[in-house]
Amino acid sequence: MPQFNEMKVQLVEMQSQLTDKLERIVKNVTKEANSDWSEQAQERENDEVMDALGNEVRRELKLVNVALHRLNEGEYQYCADCGEDIAIARLKVLPFTQHCIGCASKRD
Ligand SMILES: [Zn+2]
Repeated sequence: MPQFNEMKVQLVEMQSQLTDKLERIVKNVTKEANSDWSEQAQERENDEVMDALGNEVRRELKLVNVALHRLNEGEYQYCADCGEDIAIARLKVLPFTQHCIGCASKRD
């Protein structure tokens, strides 16, 4: 589907960026704790932030993976809820969306 090549390029790009980001976050969280107490407390706080960040990145990565799967299956253009076409303009702005504007607004 040549009309989606642009989105596919974007999605593949997003996928590699998110994967890199997640790797950096995981490394950061699993690095050894500092022996100094106050710094340790500070690091625990950072870990929580990094965990939340990691979850957010995982969530985004999942959306991107689903979108790429839908592209390969030829389902990309169809809304996952109502099956209607998703506007191309919408897909250009949100290449990982699975819903038409109508269903997306109902979900919010
Ligand atoms: Zn829909």
